[in-house]
Amino acid sequence: MQETFDTIIIGGGQSALACAYYLRRTGLSYLLLDNQPEAGGSWLKAWDSLNLFSPAEFSSLPGWLMPKTSHVYPTRAETISYLQNYEDRYKFPVQRPVQVQDVCFKEGIFELKTDKGTYYARTVISATGIVQQPYIPSYPGQDTYKGALLHSSEYRNPEQLQGKRVLVIGGGNSGAQLLAEVSKVADATWVTLREPSFLPDEVDGSVLFDIASAKYYALQKGEALDPDKYNLGSIVMVPSVIEARERGALQAVRPFDAFYEQGVIWPDGHKEAVDAVIWCTGFGYALDHLQCLGLVKASGRVVTEGTKAVERPGLWLVGYGGWTGFASATLIGVGRSAKETVKQVQAYLQQA
Ligand code: FAD
Repeated sequence: MQETFDTIIIGGGQSALACAYYLRRTGLSYLLLDNQPEAGGSWLKAWDSLNLFSPAEFSSLPGWLMPKTSHVYPTRAETISYLQNYEDRYKFPVQRPVQVQDVCFKEGIFELKTDKGTYYARTVISATGIVQQPYIPSYPGQDTYKGALLHSSEYRNPEQLQGKRVLVIGGGNSGAQLLAEVSKVADATWVTLREPSFLPDEVDGSVLFDIASAKYYALQKGEALDPDKYNLGSIVMVPSVIEARERGALQAVRPFDAFYEQGVIWPDGHKEAVDAVIWCTGFGYALDHLQCLGLVKASGRVVTEGTKAVERPGLWLVGYGGWTGFASATLIGVGRSAKETVKQVQAYLQQA
């Protein structure tokens, strides 16, 4: 007879680890199932030069601060190493690589079908992140375009773009950072829907966390939100982006109308040949494994109250950004969501 765990966490990235940190203190039986070969979550797949946009002290999971790093903004390797050491430090029970294919609910128990067999749990925390579902907008003629199309999640470094004509699409932090890097070796144009907005040079990404917190507390108090005051879309001026601005490379243009075989057609009708297009257009949510529960809506989301799935008691979703908790898709922000989630898991199991 296979064990039924009190809780199974699906995922092994920062959100899963933050939940495990709080679960470990409860005495509940729990397990993490992650489809990656090692610790690090989506940071394992990030591009080579990606640095965090906040210093280490503002990029920490609960219980253990990220150690001082070689740069003010921790590198990708340092972030992965922190997550690996965090996992080792607390000896979380993680099984990997295990792909959770589907989660069903039968006779009061969750049944998790995986590529390594079936697991059972009384409660489930889904912490699968966002990067497995890259979002790419659709433009007329896109199928006919013969150049390279890649999403930021597939980009590693600018080597293969040397001397090419490249469009970097997207007005967020990924777009700005990739434009900064690619424009050093290629003829790159930044394409954004509207004029990008930049944070002042002297503040870092921790300000975005402060803004998210202020928004959270304002909403709790039922205060009206001034969209300018709570704008989270601003680009953090990390050193590479400042350097691109000093070089005059940080200029953005509005989108083209369509693709043709060799490139794009701009709104004034002129055609321009382009070798590669990099989509920095964000992500959907990696929730395919919840299909059997029938909870995923057309928006790609599950209806939640905080992190709790409203339509399936016993299930929580952590780390998916604003709809499951303000700033919950950041290292510093996910701790708050994780703590509240574990409190609810405990209460749920006590009642059951
Ligand atoms: P992930 O790290 O994606 O972890 C989810 C894990 O679950 C992965 O290992 C995944 O492979 C696994 N998984 C998925 N589906 C299944 C399944 N069905 N079965 C088993 N396992 C599964 N945050 C900051 O705090 N500071 C920053 O500076 C910062 N910069 C960012 C820059 C970029 C370009 C991006 C994209 C994000 C950035 N973030 C930053 C946000 C945040 O750190 C990431 O989104 C973070 O990885 C989210 O962690 P997570 O644990 O929720 O998801």
